[in-house]
Amino acid sequence: MASGDDRLSGWLADYDTSQVTIGVVASHSALQILHGARQEGFRTLGIAVGENRRKMYKAFPGAEPDDWLVLDDYHQMLDEAEWLRTRNTVIVPHGSLVEYLGAENYIDLEVPTFGNRRILKWEASREAQRKWLQMGGCNVPRVITDPHDIAGPVIVKYEGAKGGKGYFVARDYRDFRRNVDVEEEFTIQEYILGTRYYLQFFFDPIPDDGYQVDGIDSNRGKQLGRLELLTIDRRDEANVDEFYKLGSLRDLREMNIEPSFVVTGNVEVVLRESLLPEAFRLGEGAVASSFELEEGARGMIGPFCLECIVTDNLDFSVFEVSARIVAGSNVSVGGSPYMNLNEYDNSVGRRIARCIRKAIEKDQLHAVLS
Ligand code: AMP
Repeated sequence: MASGDDRLSGWLADYDTSQVTIGVVASHSALQILHGARQEGFRTLGIAVGENRRKMYKAFPGAEPDDWLVLDDYHQMLDEAEWLRTRNTVIVPHGSLVEYLGAENYIDLEVPTFGNRRILKWEASREAQRKWLQMGGCNVPRVITDPHDIAGPVIVKYEGAKGGKGYFVARDYRDFRRNVDVEEEFTIQEYILGTRYYLQFFFDPIPDDGYQVDGIDSNRGKQLGRLELLTIDRRDEANVDEFYKLGSLRDLREMNIEPSFVVTGNVEVVLRESLLPEAFRLGEGAVASSFELEEGARGMIGPFCLECIVTDNLDFSVFEVSARIVAGSNVSVGGSPYMNLNEYDNSVGRRIARCIRKAIEKDQLHAVLS
C-alpha cells in the first residue's frame, strides 16, 4: 500500500494547481473557511447532507460556495473522492467533519486535505492528548484514577462527549457516586480554578521568518517553521457560567441543579501581554512535540488550539488540544486583536487559504497537505 506521502504525491501529480477548489463540510467554521478561500481567489465547494444548508448559506453571500455537493450521508464523501479530485479539491477539515466521518475514515479519504490528517487521531483520545501536551512541556490537570481518591473538586468527563455534554463537578466520592453514569467511560480530572483561554495558534511549516519553533523537521531537513497566535476566545457554557446568580452550590443542590458545561457560544478575549511569552512557550512546545508523536511524524500543520486555564498564580494548565480550526475562532471573522497586528488575515479561514495559496506559489503544496 502507498504511504501517505506517496499517495498525496500521486494525487497532486494530476492536479492543476492554478484551479484549486477549497472544499468544506458546511458546518462548524465553514463560513469563514469559504469566505477566506474566496478572498484568496479560490473556487469554493460546500458539502452538505440534504438541501437545508443551502438556504442558510444564501444569507451570507460573501461565504456562499460556488458549488455544492449534496449527499444523503457524510460517509458518501469517501465514494466521491474521484469526483472531488477531478475538481482539484483540497478539503479543509474541522471538528464536524472529523466527527461525522470518524478519525479513521478521515485518514482514508482519498482527497488531498489541508494539514496533517494523522494528527487528528491524537486529539481523539484524552490519554494521547495528555502525552502529547506533557511531552511539549505543558502543565496538564492531574488525573484521578480511583474515584475513592477524590479529595477536592474534580470534573468528570465522558469519553466521546461532545461540547461538554454530561460533564459534572464532584467534591468527594459521594458526589461522584450520586452523579456518575457507570455505563459510560469517563476521566476524572482535577478541577482547576482560574480563567479559561482558548488559544488559537497557526503553525506554518514554510516561512523561515517570524516566531520560529526551535527544532529541525527530520523529514524535510529544515527548521520547523513559523508559529502565530491568531485569536483567543472563551466559550459560553450553560449553565455553569450563570450558575452563581441562583446562589451557592449548596443552594442549587437543594433545588436539584448541578453545574453543566454545554457550549452555547463564544466570546473573544485577550491575555495580559505579560502572559503572552508563556502562551507562545506552550504553543511552541506543542508543535515541537507533535513531530515526535510517532515515527516519521509530519507534526502539526495549520491551526490548532490549546484550551487553558490561568490560575491566580498566573500558571497555565492545558486541559485539551485541538489539532485543527476550532469553532471558537468564529468570533474573529473580521480580524482579532492579534491578527490585526499582522497585515494580512481577517479570519483563521483566510489564514488557511493564504497558507495554501503561498504553498502553491512556492510549489510546496505537499508541505501543507496530507
Ligand atoms: P473539554 O471538553 O475538555 O473542552 O471541557 C469542557 C469544559 O469543561 C471546558 O470548556 C471548561 O469549562 C471545563 N473544564 C474542562 N476541564 C477542566 C478542568 N480540568 N478544570 C476546570 N474546568 C474544566
